Amino acid sequence: MLTHDEITQKITGLNREYLKRHHAKEILFWETKMGISKDYDAFNKAEGRLSEFSSDMARLKLCRELAAEPQADAKQKETLSGWIRFFEANVIEDPQAQALSARIVELESKLALARNNMKLGYVDPDSGEFVPGSSVALSLKISTADDERVREACFHGLESIETFVMKNGFLEIVKERNRLARMLGYGDYYDYKVSTTEGFGRTRLFELLDDLELRTRDALKRYMEDVRVKHGEQALKPWNFRHVTTGDAVKDIDPYMQFEDALLRWGRSFAALGITYEKAVLQLDLIDRAGKYSNGFCHAPTVTFEDSEGRVRGEVNFTSNAVPGQMGSGKRAAETLFHEGGHAAHFSNMLMGAPCFSQEFAPTSAALAETQSMFLDSLLSDADWLTRYAKDRNGKSIPWEVIEKTIRISQPAKAYFIRSLLMICYAEKALYSMPEADLTPENVMAAFIEVERRLGILERCPRPTLAVPHLLSGEASCIYHGYVLAQAGVEQTRRYFLDTYGYISDNPAVGPRLRDVYWRPGNSVTFVDFIQRMSGRPFSMDDLVNDASLTIEEAIEQARASVKKLESVPEFTGKVELDAVIKMVHGAEVIASTENSSFEEAAAKYCEWVKSLGK
Ligand SMILES: [Zn+2]
Repeated sequence: MLTHDEITQKITGLNREYLKRHHAKEILFWETKMGISKDYDAFNKAEGRLSEFSSDMARLKLCRELAAEPQADAKQKETLSGWIRFFEANVIEDPQAQALSARIVELESKLALARNNMKLGYVDPDSGEFVPGSSVALSLKISTADDERVREACFHGLESIETFVMKNGFLEIVKERNRLARMLGYGDYYDYKVSTTEGFGRTRLFELLDDLELRTRDALKRYMEDVRVKHGEQALKPWNFRHVTTGDAVKDIDPYMQFEDALLRWGRSFAALGITYEKAVLQLDLIDRAGKYSNGFCHAPTVTFEDSEGRVRGEVNFTSNAVPGQMGSGKRAAETLFHEGGHAAHFSNMLMGAPCFSQEFAPTSAALAETQSMFLDSLLSDADWLTRYAKDRNGKSIPWEVIEKTIRISQPAKAYFIRSLLMICYAEKALYSMPEADLTPENVMAAFIEVERRLGILERCPRPTLAVPHLLSGEASCIYHGYVLAQAGVEQTRRYFLDTYGYISDNPAVGPRLRDVYWRPGNSVTFVDFIQRMSGRPFSMDDLVNDASLTIEEAIEQARASVKKLESVPEFTGKVELDAVIKMVHGAEVIASTENSSFEEAAAKYCEWVKSLGK
């Protein structure tokens, strides 16, 4: 039998050992991804040491024993139950399943390697020559190329990924994933993935998604009919659809969302919401450069908690690939700052008895994490936020006409957007529920195309299902529902604030409420319970459906009312105090920091530096 103090010591030992390994891995993650270091070997070793910890059966056993000790108090039991859930999400206890899991990882990396080396691109319709291009470049051309023949060629380029991965072992992986899931006692692999992250199984998930699908069907039909009437039958070709529907809203907003003001705009807006970072150190690397990872992300090298050795404050890094001067770069920088800055606030404000509650991987719900970041970046499309914060170089606010125009483009497309996320969920559901004998490339393609047509009406989705990288990787497969749940979580959260206060932007009650309800408990509560705690209502698709079903005129009416409401909302005029050390970096170079200066001074210094880049 252990004494209370001995249990405390064991917990602290576990906490500090995890923190050490997590920190070592994340520092190298950042340095290699930012191109500061090329020591991939050291990174792999550090990652190995962390996963050795996470998948350690002995530690799982220890936590179970400690939790059963008669001297363990309620707080210790709570902390230990967090550790038990953490290890249960990472340890595979059955040796046969362990071996199979290792085999799947091997097959996945073989496929990933083949896919990376795949000859990808399109055939130029004039010269007949092959033009190499990544999937990102091909997607971009499908939206932006003026020559329809080029767009079509790029679309076929994306389709070639599907044929390629089917030929290179994808279906083999699907079969093995299902075998593993069944070995662990789940219906299939999708069921396994949902059950281990969301706190409910596949059946419940698809009850929710079916409801959303049913209730967005009419809005989608209206939208498609509208596009057909406006742009003709040809617009519904998968390679034309995005081209005709994207419009030039970005161009209209650009003068009011300049890159160099992005930082100050973010700081003011978050400060006005009452958001603070609880003494965290934030490192922001926003601008693209050669050798830098080409996707934005937010990771926390130091995760927050408090134990017998004291409180550990956050250390959070985030990055984007902004190109100052490029059309739309200011808006994208704002999106990064609000989205990743939202993740960073979540990370910095968690406060439980162990780091297992505040790290971002399983059993942390991706849906919950994205609800935080997407809730905050949702403000950027609000008419009241735009009116108050989007200003041109002379300080003139964005005109109402521009706001109205963006609503006319974005409101009717909402149902299509939601359903294009749903497509991936339904396609993966069809894939993993297909009997093993039926898993042929022909059957899988037929099932995917059926889903694309049922959900999106077009003969094929402009982004062919199997060209979405998530389906291939072990970590990212069967998690797309997380984005859908998060969309619904965001709308339910917005509804709560709008019903309670009548407004969100510049409302100082928002930050403290997010901190107390969503952030403090880390991952100790399930996604649906979090949403219920915030809104006082069970989690549902209602608010998301209602928002997507608004007619253009209704959406414009709402926007107009929110701008009118600003008259009674005082503008934030104080100093930006986010209770954080914020370092603006560019690789290894620190451009500006709030360590020895105010936020405003650091933002001004960063702004000067950004301007100097263009010269
Ligand atoms: Zn995110």
